[in-house]
Amino acid sequence: MRRTHTDKHYVALIQRRLLRWYRRHARPLPWRRTKNPYRILVSEVMLQQTQVSRVLQKYPDFLRRFPTLQRLAASSPADVIRAWQGMGYNNRALNLHRLARLAAERYHGRLPGTPDDLIGLPGIGRYTANAVACFAFGASVATVDTNVRRVLSRVFPARLNADPWLVAERVLPKRSAYDWNQGLMELGALICTAKDPACGECPLVVHCPSAHRIVPALRVKSTERTRRSVPDRIYRGRVVEVLRSSRRSVSIISLRKSVIPDLASSERKWFAQILDRLERDGMIRVTRKNGDLRVSLPE
Ligand code: SF4
Repeated sequence: MRRTHTDKHYVALIQRRLLRWYRRHARPLPWRRTKNPYRILVSEVMLQQTQVSRVLQKYPDFLRRFPTLQRLAASSPADVIRAWQGMGYNNRALNLHRLARLAAERYHGRLPGTPDDLIGLPGIGRYTANAVACFAFGASVATVDTNVRRVLSRVFPARLNADPWLVAERVLPKRSAYDWNQGLMELGALICTAKDPACGECPLVVHCPSAHRIVPALRVKSTERTRRSVPDRIYRGRVVEVLRSSRRSVSIISLRKSVIPDLASSERKWFAQILDRLERDGMIRVTRKNGDLRVSLPE
């Protein structure tokens, strides 16, 4: 019989199996041992584009440096960008800082607890809003990140083209939302991986219609701008890295030399565009001093 996500018996079976597996095998990650909304928010923002192993190293340091939303709001953007060292995608640090200041103004230094209030805060999209609402405030809402999207499309493939959020909401066990959402992510991270799912070790293998049938997805060609095959975001990261290690502003000439020692004069315009974009994003500050352009983190 063809299974669909409207088949209640099938959905209930999958729910039971996944919940049981998660409760037995979940990794004891620090953000799973707290209900503190700020701590959960920080973990979610860090995990957006950084591997768990790296987040595990940086998460405690960041929370020691900024133990509360209020302390984060009272810091300078430069302090937060410095503390973000080693995480990559520095705009997340800046957004976290903006969010803290907005929450200080609008919500007396606390995070709001509903997805509607969370969504639209700096750096917060639908996934993070629902994740914080569910994991910190106990809201019974679905969370769809890359891992969850993949697992759902394999376990409930009948509506492959359906909106994954719609599927996620329909199959959500309302009274076990936390464990279900975490369980889907855990399964996607550890077993039902993109390229090489370990179906033989999967708690859903007996029922999953995609078991042992996954063809690795073709790599989608990146549309990112590059210089000599290195994406621009790597150079953006290097600029911030140089400024992080310098307590004072840096002249644009020495910045250029530190970031790309072999920069050709024909590439200076491209480098200026990198700086323009960083400045527009609020990641750096460019000032003119004695006819010299100087660059620093935003203090
Ligand atoms: S059986 Fe295989 S494809 Fe299905 S959920 Fe498990 S790992 Fe993924």
